[in-house]
Amino acid sequence: MTHDKAIELDKQYMMQTYGRLPLVPAHGKGARLTDEDGKVYIDFTSGIGVNSLGFVDEGWADAVTKQLWKIQHFSNYYYSSPTGEVAEMLVKASGMKRAFFGNSGAEANEGAIKVARKYSYDKYGKGRATIITLCSSFHGRTVTTLAATGQDVFHDFFFPFTEGFKYVPANNLDALKEALTEDVCAVMAEPIQGEGGVNILTDDYMKALRSITEEKDILLILDEVQTGIARTGMMFGYQYSDILPDILTLAKGLGGGLPIGVFMVGEKCEATLSAGQHGTTFGGNPVAAAGAKEVLSRVCDDKFLFEIRDKGEYIRGRIKAWDLPNVGEIRGRGLMIGIQIKGESPKDVLHRAFDNGLLTLTAGSDVLRLLPPLTISYDEIDDGLTILKKSLESEG
Ligand SMILES: *Cc1c(COP(=O)(O)O)cnc(C)c1O
Repeated sequence: MTHDKAIELDKQYMMQTYGRLPLVPAHGKGARLTDEDGKVYIDFTSGIGVNSLGFVDEGWADAVTKQLWKIQHFSNYYYSSPTGEVAEMLVKASGMKRAFFGNSGAEANEGAIKVARKYSYDKYGKGRATIITLCSSFHGRTVTTLAATGQDVFHDFFFPFTEGFKYVPANNLDALKEALTEDVCAVMAEPIQGEGGVNILTDDYMKALRSITEEKDILLILDEVQTGIARTGMMFGYQYSDILPDILTLAKGLGGGLPIGVFMVGEKCEATLSAGQHGTTFGGNPVAAAGAKEVLSRVCDDKFLFEIRDKGEYIRGRIKAWDLPNVGEIRGRGLMIGIQIKGESPKDVLHRAFDNGLLTLTAGSDVLRLLPPLTISYDEIDDGLTILKKSLESEG
């Protein structure tokens, strides 16, 4: 299909919920994408942190197609071999005890919220169902996860939202302590706020968050849908602060490009949900699981993780050294990078980069966000950075 035809069909037949850029991907390899017109882009987005191993990684494509030729789907009334292996790998890597597979980040967070509320109901009865989340957080697009999201712009139109959420500013312990009233059953947070602007929760805050919640038997839910699966240069963001959550959610990078999400529970909530209390038709799909198994077998590796941290430092260091007037703070860990843009909207920079052949993202109101594939090579990084520099310099 031609470039123009694909765009025309979208405009005529699809809900116009996105302001899309005029790119129709044809094929990709590594961090390079070719569109239907033959234009080549360097990809600093991984499809929003999804394609952890880049486009069409050989081992990944092999693992997925092999499973596809065996069986594509059965149901959760039976056992699934690749899915169980993914659960084992995740449990061993995370320190959590058990996994429940779904298909997306929002769905994983919905599950986490259900577990937290049921745990509290079983132990303390009614009236202890409030969940505290952080300002500038993002937890998904369902009615409940929108309510969990600590940004006013997401709290319009779709009333009534799910009750029982309240919001406190990130990295502010006093505000948190004040909010921990008798009705609270859980605190939910991203170790680095992704959509909200690549805002890192400090290690001190994370540690205090853990000890304060532990003390009151309030569950700590970490939403690592974006930060998890090696994105930050550790398997999970909480490993930077040496703590364990009670509930962990993962999705984006786990399947390497196929839809899979998971919520995991630690010791406390191991038996909170029993038969019939949660379910899904598609969750735990063996093809998605085969992709996840390949991703995990590659990224759960000290050398691989070190390289992610190294590449992240290299990128941040290079950008900093340009010393450009429209660049403010450069934040992030590993290959989750936020560049604060001054004097114009980060969308302006994104558009110039796009025209020049580089794909980037934004976050919050003033941040250009980079989520390159975890396998990106230094050559690909350098090519992308050359375009980024040119795009930042051509301001106005
Ligand atoms: C993307 C994201 C979600 C939502 O995931 P979907 O797969 O789009 O439902 C939730 N939480 C965080 C932190 C995310 O980055």
